Amino acid sequence: MAIHSFFSKRLTIIGVGLIGGSLARALRRANACDEIVGCGRDEAHLQKAVELGVIDRYEVDPAAAVSGADVVVLAVPLRAMVTVLQQMAPGLSSDAVITDVGSAKGCVVEEARAVLGNRFCDFVPGHPIAGTEKSGVEASFAELFDGRGVILTPVSETDPDKCARMRAMWQVAGANVSEMEVLHHDEVLAATSHLPHLLAFSLVNTLASLEESKEIFAFAAGGFRDFTRIASSDPLMWRDICMENRDALLEVLEHFNSDLRQLEEAVRDDDGDAVLNVFTRAKATRDRFCG
Ligand code: NAP
Repeated sequence: MAIHSFFSKRLTIIGVGLIGGSLARALRRANACDEIVGCGRDEAHLQKAVELGVIDRYEVDPAAAVSGADVVVLAVPLRAMVTVLQQMAPGLSSDAVITDVGSAKGCVVEEARAVLGNRFCDFVPGHPIAGTEKSGVEASFAELFDGRGVILTPVSETDPDKCARMRAMWQVAGANVSEMEVLHHDEVLAATSHLPHLLAFSLVNTLASLEESKEIFAFAAGGFRDFTRIASSDPLMWRDICMENRDALLEVLEHFNSDLRQLEEAVRDDDGDAVLNVFTRAKATRDRFCG
């Protein structure tokens, strides 16, 4: 698909952390903004973002931060979105497009619809499928979105021109952009991202309680590190994601629990064929999708 041009005279990012900071860096790399304004709760974090050259200046008041901005990006944890929407709404310019990067979309769409009223048509829900287990502006880097997916989930009210503008912004930042229906997004991401994170946190927690009686972590090998890397992710961010995408997560978790119980039965019954079947199918699937 052709890459459309994108330019912003003033782009405001509320939440200049890993994702917000990386988007700012990627857009700077492309010379796609005249000015980038940051906003957050902690001035020391924002000052650091200025020192790193990620943003040009900052405001701590969200309404002041979005004043005169033609693009506003909300990159805060999911449960902070509604407050930030309320705080920044009075300062919005009439031509501004607003987007977010939240990892679940149903909750943000509902909140934006309630808070933005007749400006809801200018809101383009988005989710970059890229990240690391690190947080904060120091962890941000310009290449984070290169060749990675971004899913936009416009709804019937969304202005198609604003959606096209956000598609172009992410393309200029290096990403491949696709569109998905909100509910479908939340179901797919519950299975591919939210469930694995929940399992990784849970496994490490289980092993931590065994650690008291055994030297578990002293012998943690590559497999353990590979499987549990994502348990180093920010607990608050993942608490928000699991709570805000609760229905889809519970559905896939039920499915997983049932499959795990079957595997447990097979091990208990010494049914090696059943275990081999599960492992063989899983390996073939992962090899096909992840190379
Ligand atoms: P992060 O590195 O912790 O950044 C979050 C930023 O939001 C921080 O700069 C923080 O700055 C600010 N913030 C937190 N609470 C706030 C509040 N109440 N009001 C204003 N600012 C607030 O987290 P992140 O990984 O960039 O995640 C941000 C969003 O991206 C989340 O919605 C997440 O679901 C989504 N996302 C994350 C990933 C990932 O892998 N990390 C991937 C895709 C999407 P202060 O502490 O200074 O306020």
